[in-house]
Amino acid sequence: MFCIHCRSEIDPKFKACPYCAEPITDLLRRYHDTPIDGKYTILSCLGVGGMGEGYKVLHVHLTAIRVIQVMLGHKKLETTALYAQVATDLLREVISPLERLPTA
Ligand SMILES: [Zn+2]
Repeated sequence: MFCIHCRSEIDPKFKACPYCAEPITDLLRRYHDTPIDGKYTILSCLGVGGMGEGYKVLHVHLTAIRVIQVMLGHKKLETTALYAQVATDLLREVISPLERLPTA
């Protein structure tokens, strides 16, 4: 995989990028090549803390920038991913109402 910050080729087993010290989280490892929820590609990490992680993501269908907040505190990544889903649903509620118009 490559570092989302400096784009250097890095070993996914590392906890942080050896070149720029960007944290490499389980979520990053999991969603490095696969979009979150099938539609959010991680662009950059906005912050990693004890309670959660924030990511700037690209909505691959709308080609729009979004921010995803992932709450941590779960040992299993599947549970963490579920929280990412909830966070994106919450995020959707504050998106411009124009985006909610039916497309058909
Ligand atoms: Zn780096």
